[in-house]
Amino acid sequence: MPNPSLLILAGDGIGPEVMAETRRVIDWFGARRGLAFDVTEGLVGGAAIDAHGTPLADATMAAAQAADAVLLGAVGGPKWDNLPFDQKPERGLLRLRKEMDLFANLRPAVCFAALAGASTLKPEVIGGLDIVIVRELTSGIYFGSPRGIVTEGGQRVGINTQRYTEGEIARVARAAFALARQRSGRVCSMEKANVMESGVLWREVVQAVHDAEFADVALSHMYADAGAMQLVRAPKQFDVIVTDNLFGDLLSDLAAMLTGSIGMLPSASLGAPAAGGRPKALYEPVHGSAPDIAGKGIANPLAAILSFGMALRYSFGQGAEADRLDRAVERVLAGGIRTGDLLQLPGRKPVGTKAMGDAVLAGLEADLAAG
Ligand code: NAD
Repeated sequence: MPNPSLLILAGDGIGPEVMAETRRVIDWFGARRGLAFDVTEGLVGGAAIDAHGTPLADATMAAAQAADAVLLGAVGGPKWDNLPFDQKPERGLLRLRKEMDLFANLRPAVCFAALAGASTLKPEVIGGLDIVIVRELTSGIYFGSPRGIVTEGGQRVGINTQRYTEGEIARVARAAFALARQRSGRVCSMEKANVMESGVLWREVVQAVHDAEFADVALSHMYADAGAMQLVRAPKQFDVIVTDNLFGDLLSDLAAMLTGSIGMLPSASLGAPAAGGRPKALYEPVHGSAPDIAGKGIANPLAAILSFGMALRYSFGQGAEADRLDRAVERVLAGGIRTGDLLQLPGRKPVGTKAMGDAVLAGLEADLAAG
């Protein structure tokens, strides 16, 4: 069997800094756990514009389509801010998402015990939180037509259209149910069926997919506004939340920020399962290229490293090794090791990006030794 392939697109700003530490973690799993990957690297975003005049070269796009998983750092920065909209670094990322048809965006909100004090919520509300929001990523109001700003009756009118087909709802529902089967087996679907026809259809289709294919998973429905309140009031009641593009955009940011720094947040974007069962997949930290700290060696690499953990879990069927990586990170944080973006312990100095990478590798070794 050939090794599974990983394409690393480090991108701009802190992207290459956090991906360098992620690469060391990938290599650790190869050396210490027999999980070797064929890793190739490519350019995306501003780095690709500088080298090729385009934010994603066709050859890189083809490499992404062929890879078993893509790991992306971050794109963008002031150097490219004044380019026309269709030439900006972000277009590279959008092209990847569109052409790989990555319709399910998984955003975990996990509260590491050592960081419970960093949340704006009380530690007892947030401690031990482990939920995933599955956001539909390729349809809905951000893509529906008609759209635009038109003039009607002498004044301008802004128009966007929420539009979902049954197929689009069903496939993201399947992704959420399949995910729940790997977790504690509960899905809460969120929409606004009380005021939106698209919400009525969403609820019907999610229920139908459940009844026909995933009756073993516990399904509940909630209006998205109530869901926002419940996420702040008692987030641990949830396991997997599935929702549309707009509500998912809001709810995933809300849920993620409950848990502390943006430097801790991984994500996965998954497409349809291919013949071998492995979905098209792109893993990336939620944060951007952080131009304000780029080049200083102080970025937190944990979001990127944990994104590789999601790849282990969702692309490569290595849940136990992903758990090992999570435990290593927990161990690092419990030991008081923090980059500057995380709440500091009294008397401790923040560490830099590379020292955090060193600490994760040491944490992995310690976890292995602990059996
Ligand atoms: P950002 O996420 O880059 O930074 C927001 C703040 O969080 C900054 O103060 C930054 O220093 C801090 N931060 C982010 N990641 C961190 C980390 N790993 N460790 C420590 N601190 C961290 O968002 P922004 O400032 O709004 O955007 C900067 C650039 O990134 C823009 O060009 C934007 O378009 C781009 N961006 C890209 C992506 C992506 O590639 N997916 C996502 C968001 C923003």
